[in-house]
Amino acid sequence: MLITAEQRTELESLIELAAHGRALRHEHDNPTQASALNDLVSSHKELETKKTEAAEVVEKYRAEVAEHAGAIEAQNGQIKKKTVELNDGTGLTSRDLVNLQGEIAGHEERVAELEEAELGTMEELESAEAALTEVEASLAEVIASGRATQTAIKDRKAESAAELEANSASAQKLKADLPEALIRQFEQNVAQGGPGAAILNGPNCRACGQEISGMAWKSMLLEDPNQTYECEECESVLLRKG
Ligand SMILES: [Zn+2]
Repeated sequence: MLITAEQRTELESLIELAAHGRALRHEHDNPTQASALNDLVSSHKELETKKTEAAEVVEKYRAEVAEHAGAIEAQNGQIKKKTVELNDGTGLTSRDLVNLQGEIAGHEERVAELEEAELGTMEELESAEAALTEVEASLAEVIASGRATQTAIKDRKAESAAELEANSASAQKLKADLPEALIRQFEQNVAQGGPGAAILNGPNCRACGQEISGMAWKSMLLEDPNQTYECEECESVLLRKG
């Protein structure tokens, strides 16, 4: 189909616009930050697991500390009770008194042991709590980054959607100035996943790669450069390079 020089310029602009539109569409559907968001999602999962583990360790040491405290209290109860018996002394032989004193000393020794163990467990608890706090801080960081990345993706999507709309409006304007039959051919190729139209700079369709026979190419070269063609393979609109 022979088009005017002005239409040729418009068709060239349409080809460029359509290419930009495809790039925009691809970016819109495959946001560049999507992989960063995926990484954050896996970090989030990992940290949640670590947090659960760290919290379990903290619970274990808290239970141990409570157990020691209970045992110490029981020993102190015994000491108190036996000290009262000793001070009272009613009906006790001197041997009983010596035995009681021995028992009290034994309980006191046990208290000292338990207190030392409790101190060790408290230290363990302290570092377990510090580890938990650290995991919680990392988790909070990952959650914040995740939210920021999600927002950035959403904003960019909205932006590229607006750009796509503008792109499509500009393309519509150009299409209105071009012959209807040519635009039908263009749209058909687009519907099949092609670029709609392509500029030839050699005997190959720039839309699908199909080779153009030497004879056809030679006769094309003799024709008006504003003549458009249809690719035999993909039916894309073809225009020789000016
Ligand atoms: Zn083709």
